Amino acid sequence: MTYAIVPAGGLGSRMGSRQPKQYLRLGRVPILVATLRALARTRGLAGIVVAVPGAHMTATRRLLVERRVPKVLDVVAGGADRQESVWRALQRVPERARWVIVHDAVRPFIDRALVERVRAAARGGAATCGMPVRETVKRVRDGSVETTVERTGLWTTQTPQVFTRALLWEAHEKARRDGFGGTDDAVLVERLGAAVVMVPGLELNLKITTREDLRTARAWARHRRRA
Ligand code: C5P
Repeated sequence: MTYAIVPAGGLGSRMGSRQPKQYLRLGRVPILVATLRALARTRGLAGIVVAVPGAHMTATRRLLVERRVPKVLDVVAGGADRQESVWRALQRVPERARWVIVHDAVRPFIDRALVERVRAAARGGAATCGMPVRETVKRVRDGSVETTVERTGLWTTQTPQVFTRALLWEAHEKARRDGFGGTDDAVLVERLGAAVVMVPGLELNLKITTREDLRTARAWARHRRRA
């Protein structure tokens, strides 16, 4: 059985809008609805647990029913950071789940092929998707270049990421014990010494973080509707 967790508990402070970014519109629907609909197309997906800001739980439940988003199993209160939101959602994933897909609410441009590619790559327990770095990478301190990082082998990471439920649980538990905070779930699994397979993501798998991103996302969505 495969279940999904969608962390949507951020307040979107980098966006500078009153509404958290996952509730801003992309075409006719909020970003969160677009993302959940795309994810729900995954073959064999049994249910989705969504973590949202505590103050938005009731409104989100209503929104997802109104918009007839399929496969939503539960909407839970998120935590102070992404990791805590995933952990809280993980509590609601049924024990019979063997696989858990974790996917950011603010990445609406996924397709079924991508999710299934990562799911297939996770046979050994864990997989993520990402893109090889094409540009030259520099570490900057106080506005000056400190060093140029060797680009070979560097990838940026996206979601979806897929894990066995047991491995994801163990990884989160260890991180909590150690007081370790990561910006994705794969890093928590890496800390267990377990292998995480990397497969190519999508160039268009944008993470909507800033106003600029939102403008880009809306332009892409318009383009796709016309195409
Ligand atoms: O802010 P960040 O880049 O970590 O956001 C990635 C995803 O994690 C977003 O979908 C956001 O809503 C979610 N998140 C969360 N709980 C938080 C902070 C972010 O679920 N406290």
